[in-house]
Amino acid sequence: MAAQQTSQPIWVKALWRLVTILALGALVGSAFGGYANGLVVVMVPYVCWHMYNLYLIERWLRSGKVSDVPDSWGMWRDIFDRIYTLQNAERKRQRELGRMVRRFRKSSSALPDGVLVLDSSFRIEWVNTAARNLLGLKKKKDIGQRISNLVRDPKFSEYLLAKDYSGSCEITVSDRPGLVLSLMLVPYDSNQYLLMVRDVTRLHQLEQMRRDFVANASHELRTPLTVLRGYVDALDDEVESLPPHWQKAWLAVGKQTSHMQRLVRDLMVTLRLEDKPLSAGDQIIDMQRLCDDATQELKTLAGPDIEITIKADARLMLRGDIIEIQSIVGNLVGNAINYMPQDYGPGQGTVTLKWQANSKGAALIVSDNGAGIAKKHLAHITERFYRVDNRPGRIQQGTGLGLTIVTQALSRHGGKLSVKSKVGQGTVFKCQFPKGRVLTATDNNLLRTGS
Ligand code: ADP
Repeated sequence: MAAQQTSQPIWVKALWRLVTILALGALVGSAFGGYANGLVVVMVPYVCWHMYNLYLIERWLRSGKVSDVPDSWGMWRDIFDRIYTLQNAERKRQRELGRMVRRFRKSSSALPDGVLVLDSSFRIEWVNTAARNLLGLKKKKDIGQRISNLVRDPKFSEYLLAKDYSGSCEITVSDRPGLVLSLMLVPYDSNQYLLMVRDVTRLHQLEQMRRDFVANASHELRTPLTVLRGYVDALDDEVESLPPHWQKAWLAVGKQTSHMQRLVRDLMVTLRLEDKPLSAGDQIIDMQRLCDDATQELKTLAGPDIEITIKADARLMLRGDIIEIQSIVGNLVGNAINYMPQDYGPGQGTVTLKWQANSKGAALIVSDNGAGIAKKHLAHITERFYRVDNRPGRIQQGTGLGLTIVTQALSRHGGKLSVKSKVGQGTVFKCQFPKGRVLTATDNNLLRTGS
């Protein structure tokens, strides 16, 4: 039945009809002895007609058969038509949605990667075939289960608890040796999650091969470089006796040997950090002391042109790995000195090292008034071997691994590195540590977790 297009709203037509019937009733009534009687005579069938149509509409809606539209006339016919049209449109929409859901399920079942839909408490609502195969889930039994009860790798539990889902987490499956899976949680809607599961075994093997190769090569290079360094140092005193062009060549040999030694050392540090467990150790670090110690040698290297200031909250301690934190401070302050413009005279360069509490925990901030870093380089400076340009620094030629080491060490402490820089004005590196890693020494020297 097609919807009847009415020019007037139903209620207006009904009102006119009622007024006409009442007027007729009153007219006929007054002709036969009393208009009240006439009104009763017309109203009773009118009300009965409405009641009957109400009964029809209720029976129709309860039956659920949209096509069995009750037959009527007048305003009720209009109402039935409109309800029919609305229900038809709704059914069409539902069929379309159903088709879409079936299409989505079919296509995600065909995906080589696993997909799981999780609710706000990480219970499984839906899984595709690949996810079932990769995680060994049962089609019906595991629906409604918490994913952490089924994927029991501690790394995954840590990943879920950390609530930072910008990265992924790699796990091994105990009953399938050699299989490495990468899991990534993607929040969508409010409080719903997609868990993407990828088989990264091959990638993992290649990565392991790369690590083994770099580790072996670095190890093998270390001995010949030490021998070379020994000869370079031993012959340093004899350099003056060489012809001038050989003197230059000899100095270059010395410089390049040092550079290669630093490269090998930095490579080995990054590999060691990659191989360590996700979370750093639990030593209580007196950061003020560490900053003082770690900058002692650098102060000598900086010379009179650069002034290094330390502003550290003496009561604020860090829980972590002392060697790695030393390496963070050493690299950041080392860079600030190294990339200070060569033409700065005595006292013109300033490097400030701050250690202070903030709302997220505590931050180690290294700022300088050096050359700064152009915006286009900022996103890349933490990448392995990335260097802004190849000019030698004040102290040494860089390896492009310093900031990689800083980010690796920081992430093991649950921290994050951020950089702000303006060319010609200087750079600020901020290492943010989470509350869980920060402790405050109280007056009687007891430590409590930072609030
Ligand atoms: P490198 O061993 O070359 O110093 P890093 O990873 O430590 O490697 O730094 C990457 C690049 O970032 C450097 O080559 C340098 O150009 C730039 N950089 C780092 N720190 C600073 C700084 N404080 N001021 C200016 N440039 C910097």
